[in-house]
Amino acid sequence: MSAADCLFCKIVAGDVPGDVVHTSDRTVAFRDVNPQAPLHVLVVPREHTANAAETAAEDPEAFAELFATARAVAESEGLDGYRLLFNTGASAGQVVFHTHLHVLGGRPFGWPPG
Ligand code: 5GP
Ligand code: ZN
Repeated sequence: MSAADCLFCKIVAGDVPGDVVHTSDRTVAFRDVNPQAPLHVLVVPREHTANAAETAAEDPEAFAELFATARAVAESEGLDGYRLLFNTGASAGQVVFHTHLHVLGGRPFGWPPG
């Protein structure tokens, strides 16, 4: 079931265009419109949940396929290293409230993150 007025539900449904790089039964991966690295892909569950905390509470098995999809994207893009992250909550920088795993690669990353 998709949430009304959810941008990523609309991309999953094909109602809003997305540069899709990978799909599976439960996930869709598409390029971020404002990339923060040479490779910046968002992996989303087809089922709407608001963020990683809600996914953990309601559908924890979904994480297995999100991470498997991220691995497949990294492999197909030839990344030797990459960063995975979930911004969870507005104070952590989340602006789209449909769970999405950021896959970033193609440049060095510092630690700690900003
Ligand atoms: P958040 O800050 O919620 O973790 O990340 C949301 C991400 O969605 C941002 O990196 C932003 O650039 C991306 N984004 C926002 N609107 C769109 C869109 O319409 N299409 C795509 N592909 N990415 C989007
Ligand atoms: Zn949604």
